[in-house]
Amino acid sequence: MSVDTPRRTFAIISHPDAGKTTLTEKLLLLGGSIRSAGTVKGKKSGKYATSDWMEIEKQRGISVTSSVMQLLYKDVQINILDTPGHQDFSEDTYRTLTAVDTAVMVIDSVKGIEAQTLKLFKVCRMRGIPILTFINKLDREGKEPLDLLSEIEETLEMETYPMNWPVGMGKRLKGIYSLSDDTIEKYNDLHEREITPLADDKSLADYERETLEEETLLLEEAGNEFSIEKVRNGALTPVFFGSALANFGVQSFLDQFVKLAAPPQPRKASGEFIDPERQAFSGFIFKIQANMNPNHRDRIAFLRVCSGKFDRGMEVILSRTGKKMKLNQSHSFFASDRETVDTAMPGDIVGIYDSGNFQVGDTIVGGGELLQYEEMPQFPPEKFAKITAKNALKHKQYHKGIEQLVQEGTIQLYKTPYFEDYIIGAVGELQFQVFEYRMKNEYKVDIEFNHMTHELARWVTKGTVSDDMTDSRKMLVNDQQGRSVLLFENDFALRWFTDKHPDVELSSGWDIL
Ligand code: GDP
Repeated sequence: MSVDTPRRTFAIISHPDAGKTTLTEKLLLLGGSIRSAGTVKGKKSGKYATSDWMEIEKQRGISVTSSVMQLLYKDVQINILDTPGHQDFSEDTYRTLTAVDTAVMVIDSVKGIEAQTLKLFKVCRMRGIPILTFINKLDREGKEPLDLLSEIEETLEMETYPMNWPVGMGKRLKGIYSLSDDTIEKYNDLHEREITPLADDKSLADYERETLEEETLLLEEAGNEFSIEKVRNGALTPVFFGSALANFGVQSFLDQFVKLAAPPQPRKASGEFIDPERQAFSGFIFKIQANMNPNHRDRIAFLRVCSGKFDRGMEVILSRTGKKMKLNQSHSFFASDRETVDTAMPGDIVGIYDSGNFQVGDTIVGGGELLQYEEMPQFPPEKFAKITAKNALKHKQYHKGIEQLVQEGTIQLYKTPYFEDYIIGAVGELQFQVFEYRMKNEYKVDIEFNHMTHELARWVTKGTVSDDMTDSRKMLVNDQQGRSVLLFENDFALRWFTDKHPDVELSSGWDIL
């Protein structure tokens, strides 16, 4: 891909089954990146799934890891960062969202906004990421379009601006009307794209026309004004209707996506905003993935290029340590295929071979000032377990395994004061299982788990917590950076503590960064 081609980098946020995979596939087909459907993931067909790098994924039929996909459409290079669908890996998704400039929110028209979408939306909001909305499954009998808009506005406190409007739904679906050019894209069983001016259309019944007129009039009078500034700062979401499965409305969405999605944005590093136009190369690692391919037992660090130009073989400096290194092995990933990348521009994602130098959140620069991009958001874990190695003689591998898996961000690690017992924290149970599996397979260590009843982690941001203020229900531990963290069994224990100790300020993790 040429260095001059504009870049647009995005990820889909959605609840499982809303249609993320289907939409991704249709977008890739439109860009000519894949030739047949079923290439992206085959979880339901039982076929070998291209994103199943780890055995555990195959066993469970879920996508645990993320991959990066590319398509070229209308002279724009679109980078899609895939995210794990399962909620237990939402922490991975949060980190991936730090590397995008736009999010596409896919909503199932039958279900409306679901739990996982809401969680991911909050991350986007916090980071000010612009959101385009695709309301999917229009071929099914879903909620009323106006109700869906209200739901978005009320639940997410974000203005909506419909870019097109459905005529009917489910079996009565006739098409989608484009508000900007007064045309209708007809829905037909052949799934062929057919767009005609509304005035020339003879297929709509009188009542369908009347409903459309009424609803669009209502949108004109009571709807929001379009503003690209509001789109870019996440205050307004353009809304598209369609059906990914029927490939209906997908191309219309993509046509607008290339206009509305944000170009590579300036990112905050060491207190200032670094412009992508800045000449010196810089970027950050948002994900580390081990054993992506069982044939290459290796670790790949995913780098988001933020400024300057990345050239394979270039010398870079790891800001955290000041260490100089040459990046000779750089790849792009398309599902399980890897290709060597020689150059990359701001907005691009490059997978670089890692022999153990990198941590999630690391910044690398091409020279000059040792910038440090903002830390990764830390997501408060909800599950905790005390761990030990079943075989004490394996302590070397045990520590090495834990150190590497923590660097990769597989789990969070805490230590108790004095005894330095290891406590691991995760967002979901499955994360523990991946940890256990990898410790056994990669480091040959069997782990003894002692599950804890605690569910909440709160960082101590002000005041001190002494031993007499804690007990088994509210436990004091230290995180990787040595910060004090309190683990509570439940909300009640947390409230009891804050009432009793008003001088101690606690944070759930997000706002301490
Ligand atoms: P993901 O979990 O969000 O990646 O969802 P998938 O893309 O795997 O889709 C979940 C299910 O919904 C699959 O059975 C799809 O075939 C189905 N699906 C996706 N898009 C549509 C659509 O537009 N209409 C209908 N009726 N089904 C859809």
